[in-house]
Amino acid sequence: MSLDLSHISRRRALRGLAAAGAGLVLAGREGVAFAGEEGALWTPLKHGGRDYLPLEQVGRFYGFGSVQRSGKGFVVGAGARSLSGQADSVDFKISHIKFILSYPVADVGGTLCLSRVDLVKLIEPVLRPSKIEGAARVNTVVLDPGHGGEDRGAVGRLGDEKTFTLDVAMRAAALLGRSGYKVLLTRASDEAVSLEERVKFARRFPAALFVSVHFNSGGSGTGVETYAMSPRGVPSMSAEGAQLAAYEAYPGNSFDSENAALATATHASLVSRSGMFDRGIKRARFYVLREANLPGVLLEAGFLSNPEDMQRIASPWYRQQVAGSIVEAVGNYRRSVGGASV
Ligand SMILES: [Zn+2]
Repeated sequence: MSLDLSHISRRRALRGLAAAGAGLVLAGREGVAFAGEEGALWTPLKHGGRDYLPLEQVGRFYGFGSVQRSGKGFVVGAGARSLSGQADSVDFKISHIKFILSYPVADVGGTLCLSRVDLVKLIEPVLRPSKIEGAARVNTVVLDPGHGGEDRGAVGRLGDEKTFTLDVAMRAAALLGRSGYKVLLTRASDEAVSLEERVKFARRFPAALFVSVHFNSGGSGTGVETYAMSPRGVPSMSAEGAQLAAYEAYPGNSFDSENAALATATHASLVSRSGMFDRGIKRARFYVLREANLPGVLLEAGFLSNPEDMQRIASPWYRQQVAGSIVEAVGNYRRSVGGASV
């Protein structure tokens, strides 16, 4: 396998969906043509210059049923097989897992609609990860403890981000190793490693998963959030991802579907094991996600600036939970995407 997959990114993504065999077919560079299954024809609507699909059709396509509305709120389906949210809001839930959409759910002339990019780049890989074509069977994990050396990261009352990220990564490495995975670390001690070096290292293992561990800081923030690389064209949800870069395709976009599936697996485990406030699954063009040639995720496992979060982060038990959530997520991802053995 070539190390450079960037040239096949879009074709590969398109083939993945076209081959899904359930009638979701994309055509054209940014255009859309949906051939519906069992007579369910997709009718994209233009809204604010973008393609949207009626939620009713989305619900029918995935067999969730009709849209139930209550004021601005809506739910499609029930329980583990449901989509829910609010009109004009980016807050969205798929099977109780919280996502931040790239674009708000739109009310177009009384019809609730989801943006095409959210359907293709989020809903589809999350609901049908086994349909992600070309997803490699994962046996290797590259763990990336954020910061290190003179770069302390966020500074908390009970310790530095760089110390906690390394501790979580070492704990995750031990657990993954025990589960039979090959594990590599971008740093295994308190040393400075540039973002470029981290990516260069990860690129040596194209059939691996990349998991970057960080902690947050700032404002009145609390809780955990998980980042996947922003799909091409959509706004970044972090100041670190410049808006100017939105229309570039980056190496990390070769794995849009895998990234969404991995972020979902990671966040679901992180929220349930950490017991922390759920800030959702977000998108950003962080350097390590943008430039890596393998599926990747970046987790922010709490706020060092928040006294309650800080107290938890400083406890070995909590960091073991975060490590455990990484291991659980890798296993769930591995089982859900299937993929060929490498
Ligand atoms: Zn950080």
